[in-house]
Amino acid sequence: MPFYKCRIGFIWCLLLAVLVAVTPKYWESNVGSIPVLAPPPVEIPKTQVVEDRIQKNRTLVATLVDYDVPVAIANEVADLIHPVFDLRKMRFGNPFRLEKETDGTLKAFEYKIDDESVLKVQKGSDSYEAKVEKLDLEIREKTIMAEIHTSLWEALNEVPKREYLAIELAEIFQWQVDFSTEIQPGDEIRLIIDEFLHDGTFVKYGKVQAAELVNAGRHYRGFRFKDSYYDEKGVSLKRAILASPLKFTPRVSSGFTYRRMHPILGRERAHLATDYAVPAGSPVVAVANGTVTFAGWDGGYGNLVRIKHASGLTSGYAHLSHIALGIRAGHAIKQGELVGLVGQTGLATGPHLHFMMAKNGTPINPVPALKKGEPAPPLDPKLKAEFVKQIALVQEKLEASSQSLTAARQ
Ligand SMILES: [Zn+2]
Repeated sequence: MPFYKCRIGFIWCLLLAVLVAVTPKYWESNVGSIPVLAPPPVEIPKTQVVEDRIQKNRTLVATLVDYDVPVAIANEVADLIHPVFDLRKMRFGNPFRLEKETDGTLKAFEYKIDDESVLKVQKGSDSYEAKVEKLDLEIREKTIMAEIHTSLWEALNEVPKREYLAIELAEIFQWQVDFSTEIQPGDEIRLIIDEFLHDGTFVKYGKVQAAELVNAGRHYRGFRFKDSYYDEKGVSLKRAILASPLKFTPRVSSGFTYRRMHPILGRERAHLATDYAVPAGSPVVAVANGTVTFAGWDGGYGNLVRIKHASGLTSGYAHLSHIALGIRAGHAIKQGELVGLVGQTGLATGPHLHFMMAKNGTPINPVPALKKGEPAPPLDPKLKAEFVKQIALVQEKLEASSQSLTAARQ
């Protein structure tokens, strides 16, 4: 036994001895002047705490009644909640906690609305009070590193909300790398992100503060500054042209060529486009700002949208199952705006996007054309000092994580 415990034990013994010795004398001397009152026999109701989850097709009133809360009280509570929370939005499976007395009086009720808010009902002196409270979230900076063996999806399998991270990354680097076709085994990602916790449990991510992608040996870095991402020199990652008309594509099923055996026509024909094999219904977006010149049916192309961009460039999106609402000739379209959905209308053996680009009317191979997008305007020189200061710390951390990943592999 450690020494301090011995000593504490000893002190307690000593105190007890003193008390035993002194107390009777105290009572002897005071018993005549102070009346000794026995505690009144008040029956203190026992509080019972129940923690459970909302059952399927059970309303709040039904749930409370299930736990012996009188119907009148359950209804009163439901009426009280009405102005602060729509009880029809109560979701089955969400946890709740209730405190009640043995006579059924409800003392408190809490229902977790989502990861960030909780509905609280509390019994006051004469009535109940209901409110929706935002949970106190604690922010912590987190570094996430992953090496890609098969896919980005697989590489992130140990982190929560990986779909969010995959989408954020693809968006940050959307002008540099087509995440749908270009991510390959051996690629690496590192990112610094804020995460929000409640009672030590992960709730959600904030924005990515800095990210690095090593793709086919090339390093791409993005630092968040005033809602946009820049490389370490302050050059915006944005380009005039997106790296892809699709967010996630498994593969290019047919490239740009002047000679190809046509799968339906059975004869050799030029394929002056890139085919992306993607599930039907995948969203197709405009690769750059421009004006829609055609939107409708065009023979073998099926549903087709053509867009005219700056500097003599045009793009075309064929075999769409649907053309997006509002997309018609003359519409000024923004980069990233929905054009339509992938389909197999016209002459197509399966769902895919037949994507065309042309420069001054001459078809060009879309893949390299998409790579060469012009950079967006540079950072305002007046903001440069602030930018450098803001990214310095996060840049250091990104570099440290980069070295630790390298060290781990050696
Ligand atoms: Zn095609």
